[in-house]
Amino acid sequence: MREAVSMTPPALKDLFRGKQKYVTVKPASIKHEIPDGLWLKCEKCGQMTYGKELAATLKVCPKCGYHFKMSAMERIAMIADEGSFVEYDSDLIPADPLGFPGYREKVEKSVKATGLSEAIVTGEALVGGYRAAIGAMDFGFIGASMGSVVGEKVARTFERATLKRLPVIMFCTSGGARMQEGILSLMQMAKTSGAVMRHSHAGLLYISVLTNPTTAGVFASFASLGDIIIAEPEAQIGFAGPRVIEETIRQKLPPGFQTSEFVERHGMIDKIVERSALKPTLVTLLSLHDKRVVEAK
Ligand SMILES: [Zn+2]
Repeated sequence: MREAVSMTPPALKDLFRGKQKYVTVKPASIKHEIPDGLWLKCEKCGQMTYGKELAATLKVCPKCGYHFKMSAMERIAMIADEGSFVEYDSDLIPADPLGFPGYREKVEKSVKATGLSEAIVTGEALVGGYRAAIGAMDFGFIGASMGSVVGEKVARTFERATLKRLPVIMFCTSGGARMQEGILSLMQMAKTSGAVMRHSHAGLLYISVLTNPTTAGVFASFASLGDIIIAEPEAQIGFAGPRVIEETIRQKLPPGFQTSEFVERHGMIDKIVERSALKPTLVTLLSLHDKRVVEAK
C-alpha cells in the first residue's frame, strides 16, 4: 500500500527552491547590447549617434536628452553593484492556457530576440552596498505585456522581499495585459497588488521606476503602487491611450497629456530622474530607509 500523502503544506522556502542562477552583471555588459560600429537614430530629434557613444551615455541621446528604451538586463546592470545580481525564477516560462492562435510562436520569437524567458527579469542585488530585490521589465518581449508568468515573478519578488525584509526596486514598462492569456492575465493585477500590499504592511520600501511606456494593466497595478514613484523624462505614463480617452469623453486632451512631466505636475509621481542620476538617487533613498541605520540609532 502506498503511504498516505502528507497534507502538510510545503515550507515557503521549498516552494521557491529551484536552481538559482547567478549572473555577473558588469557595467561593461551594457555596451554589448549596442553593436560596435552601429549608428542609431534618435526617435525624438532624428540625429544619428554612434553606438559606442550611446552606450557611454546610458542610451540617452547626447543631442536632445531622449531616453532610448533599455533592455531588462541593461537596467539591472545600470544599478546593480558589479557581480552582485542573483536571478530569481529564470526557469518560469509561459504556458498557452487558451490555445491562442500564434501565441507560442510569438513567445518563441521574443525568446530568440531578447534572450529572456519572459518579459521581466527579477532577482536581488546590492545597489551601492544596499541589498534590494529588483525587477526589470523588457519591452522587447511582446511589449512587456503582463501574463501569468510576469505576474507570478512580480508577486514572488515581493513575497521573497517581505520574508527577507528587503526593499524592492521595480523598473516598469508595459503595453498592458497579455491578451493571449485572457482573464488569467487580468488576474495578475490583483495578485501583484496583494503582494505589494503585504510587503508594504511589513513596513518595507518599494520604489517604482516608470519608463517609456508604462500603461494599462501594469500601470493600474504594481507600477503605480510604489511608496516612491520615479519616472524617466518624457515617458508615456497612463492607463488607456489618449485616442481611447478622447473618444470616450469626447474632449480634446491637453498637450503633453500622459508624459512624465504632465503626471508629475498633477501629483501622480514623485520625481523625474534622468538616467545618469538614477543610481545615486536610488542609493540615497535606500540609505534613508535602511532599517539597520534606524535601529542602530
Ligand atoms: Zn535626440
